[in-house]
Amino acid sequence: MEEMHLIERAILNAYDGWTEISNGGRNRLIRCPECGDSQKSDHGHLSITRSYPFLYKCFRCNWSGAVNEDFLRYLGVEITPEIRVALKENHQAVVNSAKEQNYQKEKSITNFLRGMQRKFFIPDIKDEDMDNQCLQYLNDRFQTEFTKEELEKFRVIADLREFWILNHIDWWPREKEELTTLANLYLSFSSSDGNEFISRRIFDDEDDELLGRYQETKLNKNAERLYCFKDSLDLCETHLKLVIGEGIFDLIGVWNKFPKYREGYVFAACLGKSLESVLDFFVSLGFLHIEVNYFADNDVTDNTIRKWWREMEYPSILGFRLSIYRNKMGKDFGVPASEIRLA
Ligand SMILES: [Zn+2]
Repeated sequence: MEEMHLIERAILNAYDGWTEISNGGRNRLIRCPECGDSQKSDHGHLSITRSYPFLYKCFRCNWSGAVNEDFLRYLGVEITPEIRVALKENHQAVVNSAKEQNYQKEKSITNFLRGMQRKFFIPDIKDEDMDNQCLQYLNDRFQTEFTKEELEKFRVIADLREFWILNHIDWWPREKEELTTLANLYLSFSSSDGNEFISRRIFDDEDDELLGRYQETKLNKNAERLYCFKDSLDLCETHLKLVIGEGIFDLIGVWNKFPKYREGYVFAACLGKSLESVLDFFVSLGFLHIEVNYFADNDVTDNTIRKWWREMEYPSILGFRLSIYRNKMGKDFGVPASEIRLA
């Protein structure tokens, strides 16, 4: 019998959801702790490779990625020095295999390493969707007529249920009825890796006050809540020009008002996180020269932002450039073009 690899053996010893469902060939199937797996206890959908590169993927919930410390801890494996060495080797093996598959120019390599390799498909906006009340809401709010291409760029999901059907997902990480509520009363946007929805309530229904104004739904435990739009990122580049806003509607407002940013800029929203965490993300992708155009809400002063900026590690070491913009006609940029004037 071939000898079992240290990583496989450690999981086998620690994780009681590890079953003998299938141990033949290159993969083993176990019960998925992320989605709880199916009702039949002798079925398992989480497949793990049995040699380098160690990868995992659940065929039920699409939880997937490279085996790393977080993953092993999640399964209850104790991280010994030997395991750590093996994980280092695994990291290198994943990078090598990703390179072989020509992932290196795409963001997916980073997502892959972070355990977010699974890419969900965002439904295209169809002509009949253009009458959809959610999409009408955007046109009304910004007093413009967005094109289908713009709405797709903004990662709007016209109907959340369609997303489920398109991606063949048979589970939902919340209460069942909530999907209907979110589809009917909320406008949803997909995060940049498609693993999370940011839903904003736009319609009222007195019978349904359960969910509040904002909702975030993660399809993947490791999902990074980053909302940004741009066609693609060239990871061979080290220069990056960013438009940053507090929320999604701020970015759409800037896009609508200032066409000059439509070419060559990446739009990213903080969504309640710090400016620093957004910048850290792009630095982790290998961007070392970043120009930041920060379209700030008026409840934070320039002094506060500059103070944050000075305290951040990368901007001071790498010498990023910061410009702060404000809308002197309102509190933020999530408004029609006619209601924005730069201070
Ligand atoms: Zn699963």
